[in-house]
Amino acid sequence: MSAAPATRTRELGTDVLVVGAGLGGLAAALTAARFGHRVVLTEATDWPGGLFTAQAVPLADGHRIELDPVSPGYRDLRERIRDFYRRNYPLRPEPYADPLLNPGLSTTGHLSHEPRAALAVVQELLTPHLASGRLTLLLRHRPVAAQTDGDRVAAVTLAAADGELLTVGAPYVVDATDLGELLDLAGVEHVTGAESREETGEPHAAAAADPLDQQPVSWVFALDHRPGEDHTVDRPAGYDRWSDSFSWDTGEPGGAPARSVPLFLHEPDEVPPWAAPPNDRWHQLRALARSRYLPGTFDSDITLVDWEQT
Ligand SMILES: Cc1cc2nc3c(=O)[nH]c(=O)nc-3n(C[C@H](O)[C@H](O)[C@H](O)COP(=O)(O)OP(=O)(O)OC[C@H]3O[C@@H](n4cnc5c(N)ncnc54)[C@H](O)[C@@H]3O)c2cc1C
Repeated sequence: MSAAPATRTRELGTDVLVVGAGLGGLAAALTAARFGHRVVLTEATDWPGGLFTAQAVPLADGHRIELDPVSPGYRDLRERIRDFYRRNYPLRPEPYADPLLNPGLSTTGHLSHEPRAALAVVQELLTPHLASGRLTLLLRHRPVAAQTDGDRVAAVTLAAADGELLTVGAPYVVDATDLGELLDLAGVEHVTGAESREETGEPHAAAAADPLDQQPVSWVFALDHRPGEDHTVDRPAGYDRWSDSFSWDTGEPGGAPARSVPLFLHEPDEVPPWAAPPNDRWHQLRALARSRYLPGTFDSDITLVDWEQT
């Protein structure tokens, strides 16, 4: 058991405690609530949704996802995002009627969207369970201590942004943080990264375990295009070193120098809906394509660029 803070804490009991309200946490919390269980869902930031809201990565999961079997919940989530655009945005008739509406016309997959549209859909999904009182959503709360029963987490003390403490006990506690922060805090037995073939018996597993084989840290930033304006920032320290040793395309040390591989190979102008957009960085995760909307709705397309640190 890790040491609990000395301040007096409020206490709460529930059936399921889910720490981290990203896609994994939301799926766990919504499923438990639909089965009639009381759920407390906590999130460190002020936006539920994780990767596809606060971290601004759209659900552009490649093109095959529209054909391949996926879970009904995930299919429903994707359709709800399209439906949100149909209900709220001044779409042109052709994209409005398109069953595979892609608000950003991204080339990575058939669904790219703005983070705030995803947030609205997440809030819609949560609303009936919040209204029934079955689900409690605690935003801007982080775990600061945990009580354990053997290798099981039995209760978690959470600190709100204003410093108030709350201890939540539950028979089922789910760590849905992206980095497994709760498991680490509680000190319960857990595994990170890739396990070895010998440990799991999986024929495709690596020969040796590698705890650091994980999703690389990624930075995502939004860009629009304003002709005639110059928003060039000063070069940060180390620019030349990184620019010369990494390729934008592969991220491989020793790859083509960034200067010879422009981030955007094309002017980010409007692409007609019937034309396949070029597969450059501007179009890969474009979240908003002006050509989808009635003329004059938006001044610029908006794209999201994710850069993974390999
Ligand atoms: C750029 C990029 C592209 C990707 N593309 C794909 C893809 O195409 N297909 C695919 O399957 N996967 C992809 N992934 C992997 C992706 O991370 C996972 O598929 C998925 O988002 C993981 O969901 P999650 O709920 O585990 O984590 P997240 O969505 O990251 O959610 C974790 C949540 O926990 C919260 N949190 C963290 N710490 C705490 C704490 N201490 N207390 C409370 N809350 C906390 C975070 O704020 C966040 O809301 C991609 C990842 C990145 C970075």
